Amino acid sequence: MRIVLLGPQGAGKGTQAQRISRETGAKHISTGDLVRAEIKSGSELGQTIKDYNDRGDLVPDEIIVEMMKPYLDEADSWILDGFPRNGSQAEALDKMLAEISAGLDAAVALEAPDDLLVERLSGRRTSEATGNIYHVEYDPPPGDPEEDPGPFVQREDDREEAIRHRLKIYHEQTEPLKHYYADRGILVQVDATQPITEVTAEIREAVEGTGGRV
Ligand code: ADP
Ligand code: ADP
Repeated sequence: MRIVLLGPQGAGKGTQAQRISRETGAKHISTGDLVRAEIKSGSELGQTIKDYNDRGDLVPDEIIVEMMKPYLDEADSWILDGFPRNGSQAEALDKMLAEISAGLDAAVALEAPDDLLVERLSGRRTSEATGNIYHVEYDPPPGDPEEDPGPFVQREDDREEAIRHRLKIYHEQTEPLKHYYADRGILVQVDATQPITEVTAEIREAVEGTGGRV
């Protein structure tokens, strides 16, 4: 399976990618996680990209492409979460796929209105130990440390002001990619306001419908 998850911040891309990856073995490639790991490492590259991340701006295309390419080359079954985010990244992805003679099974767009997204992101917590994503109300962290020891932390950029800024960039630069993939006949739109398990089922059903191995 090779799929791209499109959708605004908070639609559930990370949540769904983690679930589908667990269920199918496909590799979850999150460019946001790669960016945060690079910043945490304290490397020179990490320092260069920190300001973009903190402002909620996109890291320059050449940098993000260089960062994610090795992961794409490494596995033949993957779910891309957070890439591509503009036309130039979508073209770069096509070029990388052509180099390895591979195609995309589907571009899955998770759809939800902005006000719901702000509510979801304000309650988002991530486990420092496992990277698993939770929500204080909708998907609470387990009480059992055997299952996930935590701690469960809030992302610095999940403040309302920064969320609204990232959503604006999404609508301006990333949302038009739906046309890019619709023109190719591989766009699947999923109602992301449904409960988590129902969204997962719908994505898997849609990808199976495209002939992708799930
Ligand atoms: P969100 O989607 O909530 O903004 P992510 O975890 O996907 O969060 O990304 C965190 C940050 O990493 C982004 O604000 C941006 O600075 C950077 N980033 C992630 N993916 C990309 C990408 N494809 N292109 C440019 N920058 C990216
Ligand atoms: P994205 O990667 O698209 O930014 P996440 O997967 O991080 O989104 O989800 C954002 C927040 O919303 C998390 O706290 C997550 O637990 C919660 N969430 C995700 N999908 C759903 C859903 N279908 N219903 C309710 N809450 C959800």
